[in-house]
Amino acid sequence: MTDTDNAQTRFLRDSPGSPRGLKRGCTCFPAENRFGSGRLQPGSDYPVFVVDTECPLHGINAMLDLLGIN
Ligand SMILES: [Zn+2]
Repeated sequence: MTDTDNAQTRFLRDSPGSPRGLKRGCTCFPAENRFGSGRLQPGSDYPVFVVDTECPLHGINAMLDLLGIN
């Protein structure tokens, strides 16, 4: 793993419901995440994702890994 390929980078590149994420085993909901683009909320520039809590890439365990507390 390099500095440019850390957990956060991978999360953004293989975002929930994206084709890349699905190929890597993501179990999040493609349509609800606009196939990896996420949904924009009024007044925010940041997309929101709906994740499957059991997803190996974006679920609870993956989030704890990302935060370094697993
Ligand atoms: Zn996922």
